[in-house]
Amino acid sequence: MGINRREFLKIVGISAVAGLGGTSAVELLRRAPVEASQVSPNPKALTAKRWAMVIDTRKLTEADCKRMIEACHRIHNVPDIGTKQDVKWIWTEEYEHAFPDDMNKFVSDEVKHKPFLLLCNHCDEPACVRVCPTKATYKRADGIVMMDMHRCIGCRFCMAACPFGARSFNFGDPRPYIKEESRKYPTRMRGVVEKCTFCTERLEEGLMPACVEVSNGGLIFGDLDDPNSEVRQVLRSNYSIRRKPNLGTQPCVYYIV
Ligand code: SF4
Ligand code: SF4
Repeated sequence: MGINRREFLKIVGISAVAGLGGTSAVELLRRAPVEASQVSPNPKALTAKRWAMVIDTRKLTEADCKRMIEACHRIHNVPDIGTKQDVKWIWTEEYEHAFPDDMNKFVSDEVKHKPFLLLCNHCDEPACVRVCPTKATYKRADGIVMMDMHRCIGCRFCMAACPFGARSFNFGDPRPYIKEESRKYPTRMRGVVEKCTFCTERLEEGLMPACVEVSNGGLIFGDLDDPNSEVRQVLRSNYSIRRKPNLGTQPCVYYIV
């Protein structure tokens, strides 16, 4: 039976407080939760060697962006604080802020004033991962840059290192600012950093990220290492750009402008 030291001590402690005998403790141990390694992966889970996203900005309106932001923030219990201390996983900016390296005075008015959808780029060389002292932020084998909130000590080194403003800090308890709490996703606490996770919890259930699902085809998500994937096909047939490519973080979010 797989059980870690902490779970063992908890069960023994409960038995002692409840005045249960050795047999009851053994019974509780028998019913203890199984380890992750003992659970078979969901056969429906979506997997990839390297997840990536293409944002076809030609297909997205302001209303589309709003719908995607709402869908993401609702299912992930992202608080709506409404001040400079706001928390965001996905948001919009105008072209000159999203792509400062590509800005020039002849960019068309349409592009200049269009809202560009921004999120964590799940960079191949993530600066945030390099600076995190506790490994609270780490890169998965499938390319997703992930957070373990329990390890986060709130030092904010990752926020300073990320050149894309993709991370938010919980200056206070975010829970009072969650409009309608979803029981399916954990809430966070004061003093931790959070960001987009490419909806790992949905991928495990065989679902596309929430923003992709409501994008009406404006967002394409798939395996960058698979030459036959839709993301590769779209990148092959369209000119795309990435945010601040000369910083060397190798973003995995591509934009067709
Ligand atoms: S966009 Fe920022 S937070 Fe996301 S992986 Fe890159 S450096 Fe890290
Ligand atoms: S704030 Fe948390 S995730 Fe960011 S560098 Fe510090 S410990 Fe790591």
